[in-house]
Amino acid sequence: MNFNYMKQTTQNSSSPGEDNLKIAVQKSGRLFEGSMQLLKECGIEISNGNNPVRPGHPVGQLRVQSPNFPIEVFFLRDDDIPEYVQDAVADIGFVGENVVREKNKKVETIEKLGFGKCRLSIAVPKNGVLQSVNDLAGKKIATSYPVILTDYLEKKNISAEIHEISGSVEIAPRIGLADAICDLVSSGSTLFSNELKEIETILASEAVLIVDKKISPQKKFILDKLLFRIRSVKKAKNNKYVLLNAPNDRIGIICNLLPGMRSPTILPLAEPGWSSVHSVINEADFWNVIEQLKANGAQGILIIPIEKMIE
Ligand code: ATP
Ligand code: MG
Repeated sequence: MNFNYMKQTTQNSSSPGEDNLKIAVQKSGRLFEGSMQLLKECGIEISNGNNPVRPGHPVGQLRVQSPNFPIEVFFLRDDDIPEYVQDAVADIGFVGENVVREKNKKVETIEKLGFGKCRLSIAVPKNGVLQSVNDLAGKKIATSYPVILTDYLEKKNISAEIHEISGSVEIAPRIGLADAICDLVSSGSTLFSNELKEIETILASEAVLIVDKKISPQKKFILDKLLFRIRSVKKAKNNKYVLLNAPNDRIGIICNLLPGMRSPTILPLAEPGWSSVHSVINEADFWNVIEQLKANGAQGILIIPIEKMIE
């Protein structure tokens, strides 16, 4: 691997250049904060003129160079990101899976990013006659996602009319423009306030990292460094550090419940017959494991967030 190259680009990283990895992110909107936060957690500083780019303070510039990582950020509308990456204007991008699927460009999705979670769903008037997707045959569906919806309807063998609109899809049934809608939902409150009910989820989405399929080896080298940091940040978010006291005769059972990164660390306590056990628990198993630890005599359980996790 070319380490000299990396050293050089890191040192010269305050000036924009061909050697930098170019990343496209949403300029403002639902993915802006998550994108900036992730770069920050990866130790990558992005400044807006003299001010750091902070959540809630969208940037004024189109391109910003990081002073401490060989990366240049392009701030764009999310719909344009797959095309910019396909055309190699940007090497990589952070964008919703929903946009990647809809735009259908030649880009590679290499990592889910854990933010911007939502679903693309079909919804119908709450008190109407339509009850399931099979009732949609011959009906009109308003959406900003005609490609994904067409694909879904074809697979289900349902012939419906798709009416493409770019925004405020949720009001279409009320104004008589459509019988149903297909739109992004996260909490469901927009559907609720428009007296709509969800009848089918057709895509679960979150922000993903997309990459130009023809990325150069030099840029791939920087991308791998970024990816290593992203994975360490994600892993830390999915795990918690756990510290507890256990009677020595229960250590074996408790250690079986706590695999840790290798195995738990066990230290004797000043009080005879007791030890302190340190380990890592996966968020998904968290409550289940805690209940079992308590049931097996663990006491003084402390759960601590992990900032980064490197294996
Ligand atoms: P732009 O001006 O960049 O085109 P936009 O208005 O098209 O922005 P936003 O509403 O900011 O887009 O949403 C950006 C992305 O955030 C969506 O494509 C989707 O991946 C994600 N998202 C998460 N939750 C929701 C939600 N409840 N509604 C819409 N998008 C959501
Ligand atoms: Mg958009």
